[in-house]
Amino acid sequence: MTEYSEISEKSSEKREKVRAMTVTYVVDGGLYINVTNRCTNRCDFCIRNNGDGAYGSESLWLEREPTEEEILESVWSMNPEKFGEVVFCGYGEPSVRLGVVRSVAERIKERYPEIKIRINTNGQSDLILGYDSAPLFKDVFDSVSISLNAPTAERYQEICHSIYGDKALESIINFAKNVKNYVQNVKFSLVRESLTAEEIKECYNISEECGVPLRIRDLIT
Ligand code: SF4
Repeated sequence: MTEYSEISEKSSEKREKVRAMTVTYVVDGGLYINVTNRCTNRCDFCIRNNGDGAYGSESLWLEREPTEEEILESVWSMNPEKFGEVVFCGYGEPSVRLGVVRSVAERIKERYPEIKIRINTNGQSDLILGYDSAPLFKDVFDSVSISLNAPTAERYQEICHSIYGDKALESIINFAKNVKNYVQNVKFSLVRESLTAEEIKECYNISEECGVPLRIRDLIT
């Protein structure tokens, strides 16, 4: 009995710690999952430059990356059936943990097949993994939102400072073209304030060539 209580206490302490790390948070009726603070970019407009959280959340800086089980524990504790959508967004780039993200998404789908699952990504998973990552998005993700951010490699680098340098944008565009073969709803996005009207027009051209719609969003302050 004592042993059981101790285990129970330990596991509830652990749960508190995971909660303290803010693995899940709510934005506009969606359940957001924060799996990592790592990212291959340092975007000028990144929300992380201005604070610790997003949309009124607690701090999204993680003291360490949560394990797959810890992520799921946090998801189940939020009663995901209450939410229309689950979004892997991170306070970082979720595709740096694509294996874990996919596995968590699979388990959410198994338990709640009706829940829509989206991943918000910088689109650099081919470069991160070193191979065509698009097939890994099949079956579990209903939507993929890819940050396009700029019309040329040079402008992308000026704004997003990718560790992959000039290779980043081309790879993002290729990924977008490929992933729409596996996921029904794929969109590009960009931040209005980062670009000129002419550059936004060029981004629309890229979106048209790829057959991937473009969403223009406002800078989050
Ligand atoms: S890709 Fe996203 S998380 Fe990474 S620096 Fe840019 S805005 Fe921030």
